[in-house]
Amino acid sequence: MKTITVAKGDGIGPEIMDATLSIILAAGAALKIEEIEVGEKVYLAGNSAGISADSWDIIRKNKIFLKAPITTPQGGGYKSLNVTTRKFLGLYSNVRPCRSLHPFVSTKHPVMDIVIIRENEEDLYAGIEHQQTDEVVQCLKLISRPGCEKIIRYAFEYAKQQNRKKVTCFTKDNIMKQTDGLFHKVFDEIASEYPEIENEHWIIDIGAAKMADTPEAFDVIVMPNLYGDVLSDVAAQITGSVGLAGSANIGEDCAMFEAIHGSAPRRAGQDVANPSGLLQGAIMMLNHIGQTAVAEKVQNAWLKTLEDGIHTYDIYKEGISKQKVGTKAFAEAVIANLGKLPSIFKPVSYANNEALSLPKYKRKPAAEKTLEGVDLFVHWNGHDANELAKLLNNIFNDGIQLSMITNRGIKVWPDGFQETFCTDHWRCRFKPKEGVQMSKTAIPLLLVAANENGIDVIKTENLYAFDGKQAYSLGQGQ
Ligand code: NAD
Repeated sequence: MKTITVAKGDGIGPEIMDATLSIILAAGAALKIEEIEVGEKVYLAGNSAGISADSWDIIRKNKIFLKAPITTPQGGGYKSLNVTTRKFLGLYSNVRPCRSLHPFVSTKHPVMDIVIIRENEEDLYAGIEHQQTDEVVQCLKLISRPGCEKIIRYAFEYAKQQNRKKVTCFTKDNIMKQTDGLFHKVFDEIASEYPEIENEHWIIDIGAAKMADTPEAFDVIVMPNLYGDVLSDVAAQITGSVGLAGSANIGEDCAMFEAIHGSAPRRAGQDVANPSGLLQGAIMMLNHIGQTAVAEKVQNAWLKTLEDGIHTYDIYKEGISKQKVGTKAFAEAVIANLGKLPSIFKPVSYANNEALSLPKYKRKPAAEKTLEGVDLFVHWNGHDANELAKLLNNIFNDGIQLSMITNRGIKVWPDGFQETFCTDHWRCRFKPKEGVQMSKTAIPLLLVAANENGIDVIKTENLYAFDGKQAYSLGQGQ
């Protein structure tokens, strides 16, 4: 018997959760359920996170969390419970199987069967944002080696366990050479440990286009957070319906399972919603906790029910469907099919589908880090970079000198183009003069000098080489 935490959520949440629980319990899931309240009511009661401290305790104690969709109230100040849960509980891996159910669910892609593995904790979702000048705001994209290693290893271990043939990596490392470059580099390193699994890398733009057009060319796809967020919805949608997909959020200690859709408030309380997405999440949960025989029984009964043409309104189609049913009747139909196998879809077998156990991340020995310069980001309302260069050239000359100014990454000094549009946000790069070794104390001295000369520095970034390799971007146009 495994104790799990359940949240019935908002909108259609309670109906689809009741349906899901009735199916898995009828199939023999050995579960003790501890229910918590999260979402709209909690938000509106004044808790901006949508979850109480007591509920966190229960989730952390039970470690397994089955969550129905929730409604985030309109207006500012409410934090996304999903993002918070993933980050607080270290749920680094978001696993989203997207398969089409042709001919029972209409789709342009009848043979699609892909799994998107999305990094879940970092990238632009670190939520580190600042307004720096009147005209410019910034969001930091953080990619870490442990973040990359964990998610990419997870993808290969998942492919191995599920007998999948290929892992594809999507990045934009032709542009983001440091951040996406690290993701790609770690992908190549880890791929070499799995010679039996094919691996490939696509630049995200053309990769995404190919996935939307020819999804059968892909198997498992691993990618950083933002790309995964967007493309996992695209992949689910092109199977024919977002209402049919579930997702798992897996961490080292805890895991959360859910449907990918939201709380569909317009459909709430009418007994019409399709419980399949949450049911798919619950099936992943049963596998994760080792109740694989029950998971298999539920999945085969669900496939059989779809084959029988017993469909909720969202997938009902004249000529293909036989009976339009509500949430409860759909659950009853799945329960009646428990123990039966589908005849058109291939029956599933989950014998080896338990939770993956990955080695702990091991930090590598530190590289030799050399300071090679500093970027001063300056708020300046002028337009001519030559003028700014003159101002900066005057403030300091103790062994370091201005080497470049860029605006939104484009080099505007020296030798800029008149045509380049400039905002009020300037990156001014200082580097040591020939033969001088830059010391860190030069940076505060430079800042003091800038301040005394009325230059508005809004942040600095140190420029480092790691083991002799330059580890910062150059200005475009260099
Ligand atoms: P939604 O996914 O809730 O619904 C969009 C439409 O899809 C619905 O109007 C309905 O026609 C259909 N639909 C969705 N799920 C269905 C199901 N199971 N059965 C039948 N039809 C279904 O998206 P939305 O309307 O943009 O968001 C509504 C609320 O859900 C918002 O408050 C949003 O913040 C929240 N949301 C929550 C989660 C989550 O908790 N994981 C995820 C996404 C959105």
